[in-house]
Amino acid sequence: MLKVEGLSVHYGGIHALQGIGLEVPDGSIVSLIGANGAGKSTTLRSVVGLVKPTAGTVSWNGETLTGLPTREIVKRGVCLVPEGRRVFPNLTVDENLTLGAYSRSDKAGIAADRKKVFGFFPRLEERAKQKAGTLSGGEQQMLAVGRALMTRPKILMMDEPSLGLAPLVVKMIFGIVRAINQEGVTVLLIEQNAKAALEIADHGYVLETGRIILQGPGKELLADDRVRSAYLGEA
Ligand code: ATP
Repeated sequence: MLKVEGLSVHYGGIHALQGIGLEVPDGSIVSLIGANGAGKSTTLRSVVGLVKPTAGTVSWNGETLTGLPTREIVKRGVCLVPEGRRVFPNLTVDENLTLGAYSRSDKAGIAADRKKVFGFFPRLEERAKQKAGTLSGGEQQMLAVGRALMTRPKILMMDEPSLGLAPLVVKMIFGIVRAINQEGVTVLLIEQNAKAALEIADHGYVLETGRIILQGPGKELLADDRVRSAYLGEA
């Protein structure tokens, strides 16, 4: 299980995370929702060591991750799909996937995982030789997820996978998230699309200006009046 306890982050004078705690049990999907600037990306970036917290700890199966370099954290199976589909635009789809597996040497396993990625995303297989920069936004998001899967993650953390995508593509991406989870990968999802994120989640957390203000099973949060008025656009 991934456990975040008392996590605080300061950016200069900005107290972006103010002692948050959350748990992601093995095999579950947990969603963290919140408005722009609430601290969602900061949370994920702290978990993988890209941001140094000023207080608090992150642990994974009992081992403290806080203070470890990012590559060591990724090696333990904790992987982040960053916001904005950061694929390498001048490399092909195939080359981007190969880079995802750069720290691995098990050729057979890598080939099997590539096949699995193409199983999730047949569109990527059709475009294996195409430069990633010429893919559509949705295809680039598929590639970003596919590349993360090539690290063979135990927990996949996704930063706004639905951002800027058409509704049908969003639906497809969420379908894949569920399928990835059913294959045994734990998922921590952050989203502004609160409805889709809570529908898919076993458990949800609501982050507001650096604090967790509400948590509960995804379905309960969907029915919560505060969530409905602030995040689902309902009266
Ligand atoms: P969004 O949905 O808009 O991506 P978010 O919930 O992911 O928002 P964060 O990106 O974590 O929010 O930002 C939290 C706060 O920290 C914001 O006020 C942001 O301006 C600030 N912040 C984030 N990164 C930095 C940085 N590198 N330097 C200074 N301030 C930062």
